[in-house]
Amino acid sequence: MAAHRAATLSNVSYDVRLDIPAARDSAVFGVIDVRFAVREDDDQLVLDFRAPFGHVLGVLLDGDSVSFSVSQDHIVIPTNTLTAGEHTVTVRFRSTDAALNRQDDLLYALFVPDRASTAMPVFEQPDLKARFTLTLIIPSAWKALSNGAQISRASAGMGRDSVRFAKTKPLSTYLFTFAAGALEVESAVRNGRTFTMYHRETDPQKLQRNREAIFDLHATALEWLEAYTEIEYPFDEFAFLAVPAFQFGGMEHPGAIWYRAESLFLDPTASRTQELGRASLIAHETAHMWFGDLVTMRWFNDVWMKEVFANFMAAKIAGPSFPDLNLNLRFFQAHHPTAYSVDRTAGTNPIRQPLENLRDAGSLYGAIIYQKAPVVMQQLEALIGETVLRDGLRVYLDRFRYANATWPDLIGILDSLTTEDLSTWSDVWVNQTGRPRVAAAWTDSGLVVTQRDDVANRGLLWNQPVVVAIGVGDSVIEQRVLLRDAQAFVPMTLPSTPAFLLAGADGVGYGRFLLDAASRDRLLARVHTLENPLHRAVAWQTLWEDVLEDSLDANTFVNATVVALDRERDELVAQQVLGLLRGAYWRFLPDSSRTAVAPAVEAALWRALDAAPTPGRKGAYFSAIVGVTLSLDGVARLERIWRQQETPRGLPLVEQQYIGLAEALALRGVPNAEAILTEQESRITNPDRLARFRFVRPAFSADLGVRDSVFRAFANVENRRRESWVLDAMSAMHHPLRAEYSLPTVRASLELVEEIQRTGDIFFPLRWLNATLDGHRSVDAAQIVREFLAERPDLPPRLRGKVLQAADDLFRITGK
Ligand SMILES: [Zn+2]
Repeated sequence: MAAHRAATLSNVSYDVRLDIPAARDSAVFGVIDVRFAVREDDDQLVLDFRAPFGHVLGVLLDGDSVSFSVSQDHIVIPTNTLTAGEHTVTVRFRSTDAALNRQDDLLYALFVPDRASTAMPVFEQPDLKARFTLTLIIPSAWKALSNGAQISRASAGMGRDSVRFAKTKPLSTYLFTFAAGALEVESAVRNGRTFTMYHRETDPQKLQRNREAIFDLHATALEWLEAYTEIEYPFDEFAFLAVPAFQFGGMEHPGAIWYRAESLFLDPTASRTQELGRASLIAHETAHMWFGDLVTMRWFNDVWMKEVFANFMAAKIAGPSFPDLNLNLRFFQAHHPTAYSVDRTAGTNPIRQPLENLRDAGSLYGAIIYQKAPVVMQQLEALIGETVLRDGLRVYLDRFRYANATWPDLIGILDSLTTEDLSTWSDVWVNQTGRPRVAAAWTDSGLVVTQRDDVANRGLLWNQPVVVAIGVGDSVIEQRVLLRDAQAFVPMTLPSTPAFLLAGADGVGYGRFLLDAASRDRLLARVHTLENPLHRAVAWQTLWEDVLEDSLDANTFVNATVVALDRERDELVAQQVLGLLRGAYWRFLPDSSRTAVAPAVEAALWRALDAAPTPGRKGAYFSAIVGVTLSLDGVARLERIWRQQETPRGLPLVEQQYIGLAEALALRGVPNAEAILTEQESRITNPDRLARFRFVRPAFSADLGVRDSVFRAFANVENRRRESWVLDAMSAMHHPLRAEYSLPTVRASLELVEEIQRTGDIFFPLRWLNATLDGHRSVDAAQIVREFLAERPDLPPRLRGKVLQAADDLFRITGK
């Protein structure tokens, strides 16, 4: 249907009028004029409107009433008389609240990826771009914004105002938006352009402290993008809204970006990393104005393109302002481990995935789009060069402006600018799953690097430069090898046989980098002595992959992390080691080994906490201590700290940490757990944290019946609305110390995932599955997952993939 409409309709525009009452539970009513041209006579017209039958109040075709039917989320106008030419369909309707995010004194639309049709009848597909003209009737005390500039505001009587916005540039429906509510406005002029910020921040100091930086970052990003693309800012307005607890980091509606307020308004104690995070977020959303908004994917199978370019540009824009941060190390840590965690599993997907129905667009999102695709874009730039990529992107943006394009459209342009064979490159990296197994070996005359395909009977070859770190005596040299075929050789001579070879050492190379036995032993013993933090980070990830493939014993790995804890001084690498330690400790050590090693792990973490230079870094060790402590002495010490009889040296604890301690003590089954939880509840002063604690508390109960009732309640969608709380509760119930007892609910939890996919946010299904399975390491649990997959051949393939992703460690631990 989408293809038919794209082929037959053109010149679409919408004139929308919405009546928004103050009370969040009073219905929004509207009327829309849908104007379009039909290329040739057609026998029916289908509008998307995902609302109950009674929400369609009247339909006119070219001003005359017309028969229509409402079925399966569509309004169908059967018309033998829809002649070629211009027409207008007028629909009076009642909106659903599904995508309107209604709160007291605030409403904001969020239509990505396919939810505009829950609020109004439209042609919901990204390649039918339309101009929107919006009128909102709102309470007189409210302000409003939308993609277009506000052009008039007048009283509509009864304490209400009519606010009209200018006609927009052509937009895909998922980029149309509006918000209305009790909002404050700030604006600033930079380089002759006005930037407007709407917000609800009540702390004037917080606002003042961040105001200039927020405007400056937008102006810098916009100027940079105009220069890079050679296309002026392609929309009229530049406004944005800071929404408290917004569900994403940001959403790139042209002229009306939505941000999570907490990501813009930083605390005075914010770290450089948080500052970089804010600069990157602003650059990301601003880059979308060109990549995604001006040129939009034809269909959601290419949704990854807009994200990868936004990230790629954001790194170029924000990075240079942070020369004090190790950006290569951050890039590696932010992308490779997460991409690998999906790409090594049987449930992985290619970057470019087929999408039959727009309704399933939400299921495309995940680590392959957000983490692997940016790595692949780095590879592409390395392959063809910065200038060729930039010039190709300029052609692409110019050729498809205010229209739609596909990945093959871009590859076609780039292919014409380079001698590289980009269609083969693209097929392997973008259309296929997985990663190469890459091995480096030393011969008398030089370095040999080989690759082979992880997947049987496929035989792919990945084209990428591979950097090998070579241990020579006490120093390390890097050698770059262009790997295009199954094998590459670089002649080299060294004074002695290398102590180790570590491939992928630049943190850009993507693959399962194999260690020979001597290199593995050497790195296990001295990874912490490598001078370059990026080498240490890559080495830890490579050793971890060895644990996952059972070529390295988990106990040996945990012992190596314990040694490293005493020596690692780089904050980012220390964080990585802590994460790997916790993963190996809970998931890969048998219970008896874990209990045996716990005192040594706890002692090493306390030593590292004492030695850490700042409260922030001490906090990271403290949270690991709370996460792993099992020894009787250790648990007793945690309880003394919770009772405020003892304080970790140099680390004043905050409410959040006491809550974590109380929950950890309950999970460890201390005798007075209920009393501790009760007292903790009475200590909480922050209302949001109190509400969360009351929600999750029953999941920490020692009473199995209470925990079961928590799980049973999650069968009702109304009890799953606060997704992060639900995940906290699920993780508690399936904690390794309680996995034995929650085992009987695993199957029911898997059965729920299909409904969760329909009712929840895009990341919720995989997170739900992870919260269910992460704590389990029993053969029985693995069997339950296998039976579920075997008995549910009807499970949608992408959802099946998510189950396989979540179960991957469990399958590895229990032997496939
Ligand atoms: Zn984005």
